[in-house]
Amino acid sequence: VKSARVDLGQRSETVRRANLSAIVRTLHEDGPQSRSDLVARTGLTRSAIRALVGELTSAGLAIEDRAVHLGRPGRPSPEVSLVADAAVAVAFSIGVDSLSVATVGLGGIVLGLARSDRPRGHHAVDAVVGDLAALLDCLPAGRPAEEAVVAVGVAVPGIVRSRDGLVETAPNLGWTGVPLGALLRSRLDWSVPVVVRNEADLGVLAEHRRGAAVGIDDVIYVHGEVGVGGGLLLGGRPISGAAGYAGEIGHFPIAADGLPCRCGASGCWETVIGAGALLQRAGLARDAGAEGVDRVFAAARAGDPLALAAIEATGVQLGVGLGGFINTFNPRLVVLGGLFSRLHPYAQDAIWTSLAHHSMPAARALVRVAPAMLGVDAPLLGAAEVALEPVLADPASRFGTRDAVVELASA
Ligand SMILES: [Zn+2]
Repeated sequence: VKSARVDLGQRSETVRRANLSAIVRTLHEDGPQSRSDLVARTGLTRSAIRALVGELTSAGLAIEDRAVHLGRPGRPSPEVSLVADAAVAVAFSIGVDSLSVATVGLGGIVLGLARSDRPRGHHAVDAVVGDLAALLDCLPAGRPAEEAVVAVGVAVPGIVRSRDGLVETAPNLGWTGVPLGALLRSRLDWSVPVVVRNEADLGVLAEHRRGAAVGIDDVIYVHGEVGVGGGLLLGGRPISGAAGYAGEIGHFPIAADGLPCRCGASGCWETVIGAGALLQRAGLARDAGAEGVDRVFAAARAGDPLALAAIEATGVQLGVGLGGFINTFNPRLVVLGGLFSRLHPYAQDAIWTSLAHHSMPAARALVRVAPAMLGVDAPLLGAAEVALEPVLADPASRFGTRDAVVELASA
């Protein structure tokens, strides 16, 4: 009898924690809402919502406002929102030309952001890890207290083993077999988890949660910089493959005797749509970098025919590959990120005409092509979402830490 009671107690504790998770996840993804909205969204009873929201507010994870609902029938229902800085993700993004860091709180609120440009070709692993750690001190509020941090998320332009954050290869950084998760964890000297993911996989996650793909479950995200990455979401699920290496659509071979690619193969899609290809078409060196790309777009804004033709020709090649991926995956939406979101306003007709020429009518009729809404920061924000996952999955794990943070600050 006694053990049955223990089991029952354990089970109700499991249910309580799952219900807290449902509430926090709803508030995190859909924003502040009334208790009545929470009843409707979670399917929990009114009294359960009252009790659980009470737990979240006394733990400092949520607050309730006295709401005045003018012109709405019934009793006013107070609005519940999460306290952004009660649990914070530290997100890093490693680009070929720059590094960035953000602290992002519950509800996806960006609390602080800092960036630094990096000279081309300086990608020694130790230097990059050191620069990332130093960048934390450049945040407006300084380095966050470890007690407030849930986890660290890192976006990398490379192929990452999701299990342990090993960067198998990042061709445009010149990295092979880099245990980035472990290196960064020891450099930061924090005990929180460090989660490393491919930047485009994180980009599609962020665009799905807060950007151009909200409410759309079949999405191809194509992110262009020097390299070209892809993130796939099918049936609402990210496609990661056996070890996390899937979605490398930039390395889909599209030319039998194409240019050599940084991945070791040749004729990859990246070689005809990446920044190098655009720069070359505009009459610049393939390795003219972010500065060169800015020059091309400045010239395009001024109506320069060579720059406009280079952008359009890149759009044509973008459309060729997209046609193939639309036939293969039947998405509702293609989201163009990074370089391609800048290209889109000038080249949308060229992209669509080319795509139409290289795809089948049935799949094409259902798809839309749109620029990323989160711009170049989509991978950074996706890294934050992944890092916040532990507190979304089990908010009760954070109960008590808020007091500890306050005590620590006043000690
Ligand atoms: Zn390649």
